[in-house]
Amino acid sequence: MQTEVTLFSKMSSLLTTSKIRVSNRRTALNIVAGTTWYVPGSFGIARVLGSKYSLRSVLFHDISDGESPFTKGLGVTVTRKQFEDALKFIIRHYTPVSLQDILADFHGEKLPPRPALVTFDDAYASVSEFAAPLCSQYGVPSVFFVNGACIDNKQLALDNLVCYVANVYGLEPINCAIRSVDKAAAPEVSSLKEVFSHFLPRTLLASREAFRQELIELIGINDGGLASETSLYLRSQQLRDLAKFNVELGNHTYTHANCRTLSLTDFGAEIDKNKAMLESISGCTVRSFSVPYGSSVDLTFDLSQHLQRSGYQATFLAEGQANPLTRTGSHLDRISLKASTDAALFSEIEILPRLRRMRNRLFSRSMARSTARHKPPEQMSTSWTAAAAKDSGTLSQASRRNLRV
Ligand SMILES: [Zn+2]
Repeated sequence: MQTEVTLFSKMSSLLTTSKIRVSNRRTALNIVAGTTWYVPGSFGIARVLGSKYSLRSVLFHDISDGESPFTKGLGVTVTRKQFEDALKFIIRHYTPVSLQDILADFHGEKLPPRPALVTFDDAYASVSEFAAPLCSQYGVPSVFFVNGACIDNKQLALDNLVCYVANVYGLEPINCAIRSVDKAAAPEVSSLKEVFSHFLPRTLLASREAFRQELIELIGINDGGLASETSLYLRSQQLRDLAKFNVELGNHTYTHANCRTLSLTDFGAEIDKNKAMLESISGCTVRSFSVPYGSSVDLTFDLSQHLQRSGYQATFLAEGQANPLTRTGSHLDRISLKASTDAALFSEIEILPRLRRMRNRLFSRSMARSTARHKPPEQMSTSWTAAAAKDSGTLSQASRRNLRV
């Protein structure tokens, strides 16, 4: 037990320190937590950190042996070998399940031991060309959350366009485009990460489109021509063929929007239109939604209500926390897998999600105690808005550190 306490202490320190870059922190955590993998009874040791861990849901984006100017810096690419190794690890130590299995057993009581769901976000062609056939070969069902605007390579997704501009032209055109849509923008973004963590999350849908058009004009590219030339995204026929590989389609908004900025009137263009398009092309019903960028802050109360009214049966985030046995909220969380070894995969799937959940629960309790101390007595009772805010993630500030697109 002394060893486990020491291990937990080291990992907690790594999880909470802000002095280490996210990628380095993940590597350091995997090295520390991964040592557990070599100890007999490693799954039992992991349960010490939280025994009530049901569905393990893992997330991938682009499966490619090399990053391109459109993806370098986004953190969305894993190699084909990494992906296949992860699949082999999952089928060796977990029971792959489909979305239907999960929906049929909402509370996780009848799911098989260590259930695992494989998912993909965005619309990368590499999923249909490589990952889906490989999943099918290993008997692993999956869900692919697609942005309709990218289908058939008619335009670049804004994330890939920004990435391309940053890699080829630098940050100056990006800062020019930001200033053109937000006169009050200051200071300038100094990294790709700041575009996605500072600028876009506070930019309304119309301004986001204006920013995109300004970028295209500034660097003088033919957006459609470049998209067609790179063939980064899947085509309609590939979308239709996914069902053959036991891949279910899900909604990921039409343009990969930051949902916290969407107004009620934007839901039609970003969510309903995307669902109708995916269903029209594939002939299959879309019944699940993945929040772009994966943050619970984007799963607003209005969005939750809209999804519920529209008949969605599952909503997915990507904050890397363990899903509890009984789902009290309306969403499922996922782990963005990047590991290359069994020890690191064990850390990413079994150890870190438990630690993040533990950390966020402690953080929420601490926030609640602090709020209770400072609120006047008449505001201290729990209201439905507070419960909704908690469910939609406004209390889980610490989770934002684990964002992936
Ligand atoms: Zn995404």
